[in-house]
Amino acid sequence: MVRNVVIFVVLGLVSLVAAGPATGRSRQDIENFIQFLEGIKRGNANAEEFQARKQEFPLANDEEVSGRFQGDIELDDDDYEVMLLQYLQGRNGFTTNFIGPWPNNTLVFEFADGEFDDEHKAAIWDAVRDIEAHTCVKFRYRTPSDTVFVNMTGEPRGCSAQIGHRLIRGAHRLNLARNTVGVGCFRHATIVHEIMHSLGFVHMHTTHNRDEYVKIIEENITSGRENNFRLYEVSEVDNFGIDYDYVSCLHYSAFAFSANGEPTIVALQNVSDMGQRVYVTDSDWLRINRYYNCPGAWD
Ligand SMILES: [Zn+2]
Repeated sequence: MVRNVVIFVVLGLVSLVAAGPATGRSRQDIENFIQFLEGIKRGNANAEEFQARKQEFPLANDEEVSGRFQGDIELDDDDYEVMLLQYLQGRNGFTTNFIGPWPNNTLVFEFADGEFDDEHKAAIWDAVRDIEAHTCVKFRYRTPSDTVFVNMTGEPRGCSAQIGHRLIRGAHRLNLARNTVGVGCFRHATIVHEIMHSLGFVHMHTTHNRDEYVKIIEENITSGRENNFRLYEVSEVDNFGIDYDYVSCLHYSAFAFSANGEPTIVALQNVSDMGQRVYVTDSDWLRINRYYNCPGAWD
């Protein structure tokens, strides 16, 4: 039984020089891939597009239908170029730009002006306090002198975030479409999910060894969305010695990007609640603790 597992923190620094041999992508494949990249760069333009996607994928979580990479990951502009180059090289995994954890274990954030009412802010603070209670990560509200921070918005286009801390970004993006607290992007575990992206984590089902734990049912995936199931390379994601967690708040649901209402992700073990967003698991907390080198995380 393979025990190693998964939490993916993207740590790689891309080396374009180390490109492999050119492989045979057809012109049509390349055009389709460029179309895919343009789509995830744009995401949902407005509430109507978000609602239309929700209707297209009624069994999916809101963050899976937010139109970005893997649904809810907002890439940096230079990532798109890197991904296209890697695709042209015939690579099977993605390597994105260097990112890291937040310095001093402290994520600095602000609510963008006029985006949230008190109830939404309280729900986000609940998620922040939950992370603080279970890990050594701290949060601090932005002061005017902070130039690197997460800018939280509530635009009605879905839930999404950028991965990790990257100095040159300045204002990092995290969006939670306003909703009733406990619903859609405002489920507690979804808010934690998006903040975990900001802390440096990617989705469970994209770890390099996921095929040992789940089967991806290609024929059920909506055409053009197959790239959302591609893996990160072994050099980029670290499982921190923690077992694959089917019920992680970062695991997608069985019906993510389904074309036909049939599952796209099938667990190879007997599990229930895969894709749940009701709770955050002990291994979710442990991953944060190990990535941020919290005291006792490796005991
Ligand atoms: Zn996500």
